[in-house]
Amino acid sequence: MGTDVLDRFEQLEQLCPHVHLPFPETPEGWWPIVEAMVRGIEVVAAQAGIQVYVLQIKEKYGTLRTHHATEYGDGDERLIKEALSVIQHLVDLAEKRSEITCIRCGAPGEMLNDGGWISPYCAEHKPR
Ligand SMILES: [Zn+2]
Repeated sequence: MGTDVLDRFEQLEQLCPHVHLPFPETPEGWWPIVEAMVRGIEVVAAQAGIQVYVLQIKEKYGTLRTHHATEYGDGDERLIKEALSVIQHLVDLAEKRSEITCIRCGAPGEMLNDGGWISPYCAEHKPR
């Protein structure tokens, strides 16, 4: 893990005070997806006045999986309900995007089998 990834993580944490993050256990090619998802969640959480606790961000069966919990006080119930729905959509969107994104470089990719492990790869990084 390079310092680049650590820097990106710290930057993301600073940009997103409503989202509490573990260090993502994801391949480097998916970092842009993780960043876009977390920044999206931040916007929604800030609007609804809620805190989102991301418990885990990892790769499973070749896709990006995010587990999260939320904490909210006495905010507007309808607003919170809508926010939770949007956050779930952002998580689902990131998972869908990961299915077609090379885990090595982030270029468009497709699911390929690498000795029993299935992951998306671009033409350049596909297993040989
Ligand atoms: Zn690639």
